[in-house]
Amino acid sequence: MQLTLQVTYRIGDSHRSRHYQSEESAKRGIYKWLLKNQQHADISASYFSAASGYQAFQDIEQLSDYAPKPSTNFYLSRAWQDLRYQVLNSREHRCALCHRSAAEHGIAVEVDHILPRSRYPDLALDINNLQILCYECNRGKRDK
Ligand SMILES: [Zn+2]
Repeated sequence: MQLTLQVTYRIGDSHRSRHYQSEESAKRGIYKWLLKNQQHADISASYFSAASGYQAFQDIEQLSDYAPKPSTNFYLSRAWQDLRYQVLNSREHRCALCHRSAAEHGIAVEVDHILPRSRYPDLALDINNLQILCYECNRGKRDK
């Protein structure tokens, strides 16, 4: 027997239903549907599950935990981009180890976390935990 959950979507007097494999995926589906149809005044999505009983939703705020996750790519975040720019400019694009600079030596530099972000997430946006490294020095650091 396949367990599915039937969700009834209602806008005014019209109904339709969809089946989901789990309550979790039903809630994500409901969230998207509510978001798409929130201009309608009279909408609801409801289902019955053995675990939770009768559930009805009219507002995405009831399901904020099921919102699609925003992009979590740290290196694309505004905060990182701004900080990176600030570090590069305040330190003349100069490598902290070999002291060559992008302008004088035509090298590629990158902004590096002294204490790695994976183990020290709290220091990911701490300017004192950042250093400029050229490509070669950074590769040397990783190989160590
Ligand atoms: Zn260097």
